[in-house]
Amino acid sequence: MGELIHPQKTIEILQKYKFRFQKKFGQNFLIDAHVMEKIMASAAVTKEETVLEIGPGIGTMTQFLCEYAGHVAAVEIDRSLIPILQETLSAYQNVTVINEDILKMDIRQFVEEQNAGRPIKVVANLPYYITTPILMGLFESHVPLHSVTVMVQKEVAERMKAGPGSKDYGALSLAVQYYAKPRIIANVPANCFMPRPSVGSAVICLECHKNPPVQVKDEQQMFAMIRASFQQRRKTLANGLDHFPGITLSKEQIREKIRMLGLPADIRGEMLSLEQFAALSDAIAIK
Ligand code: SAM
Repeated sequence: MGELIHPQKTIEILQKYKFRFQKKFGQNFLIDAHVMEKIMASAAVTKEETVLEIGPGIGTMTQFLCEYAGHVAAVEIDRSLIPILQETLSAYQNVTVINEDILKMDIRQFVEEQNAGRPIKVVANLPYYITTPILMGLFESHVPLHSVTVMVQKEVAERMKAGPGSKDYGALSLAVQYYAKPRIIANVPANCFMPRPSVGSAVICLECHKNPPVQVKDEQQMFAMIRASFQQRRKTLANGLDHFPGITLSKEQIREKIRMLGLPADIRGEMLSLEQFAALSDAIAIK
């Protein structure tokens, strides 16, 4: 199964089609069978499930997914990869390749069509330059998801998993943890890819919550507030929120709200948990 994972096979198919890597599309193809096995074990896809793969490349991971899944939908932006995918996936009847920019697709509607709105799994070696917009797009448009198992830049995986007080903690940590439980599966060195990326990589599995771990009246406002609090990390929370669009409270009133939550008035945003941001957002509701 999955012969493309062997570097020699990858080279053969690339040469056959005279494929030229496009840096702007974040093309670093996986060529390590051990890492692929870890991704498959963590995604634990079954024949009852539909998988969305973002950026199939030459189809290395797609071949594995086709073996395990009921159906695979693979969205690839680079037109020159489509004829390659036709060849490398020709043995499989359970795959649909779509030549599209994932950021321009209505994925929620797509899942409705592909899987009658039932939750899907996302499995991918992501193009790193758009990791955050892809993940936030999936979460914020409330695509029904079981889990998201993805290769990302190592630092980004660490940011997704970080908790209050850590240097990696920020808006991305809070957004991801509102929607899912992150687990780092493996750190992956550059020699597992062709060509080698200039950054370290990691596989992260995001197990999606059925219900968010905190209740908040206005989700959008909470996230806008979180972003404002982290925009200038060195400022106190009260100073960060002072410039929050739409806020009518004075800085002293904001400090009072922070105190009422049992927190020091001069606390920095990076010390607040998701629960505390939710409580703060409810306490200073703007609408
Ligand atoms: N899955 C393959 C593998 O593991 O070897 C390729 C992974 S490579 C890191 C990322 C892939 O995403 C490339 O094939 C690239 O062309 C594709 N890609 C980049 N931007 C995209 C976008 N906006 N929409 C869909 N695919 C994209």
